[in-house]
Amino acid sequence: MQPLDADKTERLEKEVFDLRQLLEISKSLSSNLDYHSLLDSILYICMGQMGVTQAAIFSRNNLEIPGLKLMRNLEGFTLDSSRSYVISTESILGNYLISHPVCYTLKELSELVDDPQSLDTLQSISPTLIVPLVVGQQLMGLIVLGERIHDDNYAKEDRLYLLDIAHFASIAIHNAVLFEMSTTDIMTLLKLRHYFFTVLTKRIQHIAHSNIKLSVIMTDIDFFKHVNDSCGHQTGDEVIKSISTIIRDNLRTDDIGARYGGEEFIILLYNTDEKQAHEIAERLRIKVSRTNYEDVGCKEAVHISLGVVEYNPRRDHSVKDIIRRVDKALYYSKEKGRNRTTTGSSLLSREHQ
Ligand code: GH3
Ligand code: MG
Ligand code: MG
Repeated sequence: MQPLDADKTERLEKEVFDLRQLLEISKSLSSNLDYHSLLDSILYICMGQMGVTQAAIFSRNNLEIPGLKLMRNLEGFTLDSSRSYVISTESILGNYLISHPVCYTLKELSELVDDPQSLDTLQSISPTLIVPLVVGQQLMGLIVLGERIHDDNYAKEDRLYLLDIAHFASIAIHNAVLFEMSTTDIMTLLKLRHYFFTVLTKRIQHIAHSNIKLSVIMTDIDFFKHVNDSCGHQTGDEVIKSISTIIRDNLRTDDIGARYGGEEFIILLYNTDEKQAHEIAERLRIKVSRTNYEDVGCKEAVHISLGVVEYNPRRDHSVKDIIRRVDKALYYSKEKGRNRTTTGSSLLSREHQ
C-alpha cells in the first residue's frame, strides 16, 4: 500500500475533524427543544465556526403563520426601530429559497430573485451571507451572517459546511416549533395545563435540598358569566385574550403562565418566595382591573381574584397538594368579595387563630 502524502493526510484529518464537529453540533441542536435558547445556540455555532462578529436569525415560531420574524440579533446588526423585519415564507424570495436551498450573498440573491420588498429587508441589515433553513418543503428561517474577522469571502467548503449546519438547525427548529405548539393554548398563547404540571413536577425535583423558593399563583376572572351574558361570548373570548396578554407580558423567562381551564389561569414563579409572589399577583390584579376592555367590545368592569402559595416540602407531598392549597386561597378571595389576593400563609394563620 502506498503511504499517503502529507497534504492528503492533512486534508483527511481536517475532514474527520469537521465531521466530528458536525456530529457534536447535530447532537447539541437536536437535544434542545427550547425554541429561544435553540436559536441562540444556532447563531453562536455559526459565529464560532465561520469567525463572524454578527449573526441574526429570521425564524417562524408557528407553522401556521407564514412570517419569518427577526427573532434573534446577536452581537448586533444595527436595526431601524421604525421598520419591521419580517419576510414571508410565501414571498417570491421564500419560494425561491425553498426550491434552491443554498447559501447566498445579497448580491447573488438580488440577481436571481425579483422580490424588492424581501430583498430590501435583508439589504437594511447588510449581511455578508444568507443561509436558508429548509426542512421538507418548508422554510423554517434564514440565518444572516455579518462581518467576518479575517475575510468577508466564503470558500465553497465554508458554504457547504454552513449548509450542513443549516440542515441540522432546520430540523431542530421544526421540532422545537412543534413542541411549542403542542404545549401552548392557541387562543391565549399561554401554556397548557398538562405542560404546567410537567414543569412544576420537574422544578420541585430540581430545587430539592436547595434554598430556591417556588411559588404558584392561581387566578379566575370574577363574574365572568355576567361578562359573557352582557357582552356576548365572542367578546368574552377577547377579554380572556387581553388578560392572558397581561399575564404573558408580566412574566420573566423562567416563569410559566398556563391556562388552567376556561377563564382560570395558573402561574409558576421560579426563585420567588410568597411575599414576592404576592407582589406579582397584586400587580397583575391591578393591571387587569385598570385595563379598558372597550376596545374589545366590553364596557363591563373586569377583575380577577387570586390565590398565592409558596411550595413547602413539609406540607406539599405532591403537586396535587400545592394545587389544593392555592385553589383554597383563590376560593377565599372569591368568598371575601373578589378582586383580591389571598396567600397560603394568611389562611394558615387564620386557621390557627
Ligand atoms: P366567579 O366570580 O365565581 O368566578 O364567577 P364566574 O361567573 O366567573 O363563574 P365561573 O368562574 O364558575 O364561570 C366561568 C364562566 O366562564 C363559565 C363559562 O361559560 C365561561 N367561559 C369559560 N371558558 C370560556 C371561554 O373560553 N370563552 C368565553 N367567552 N367564556 C368562557
Ligand atoms: Mg370566574
Ligand atoms: Mg372559573
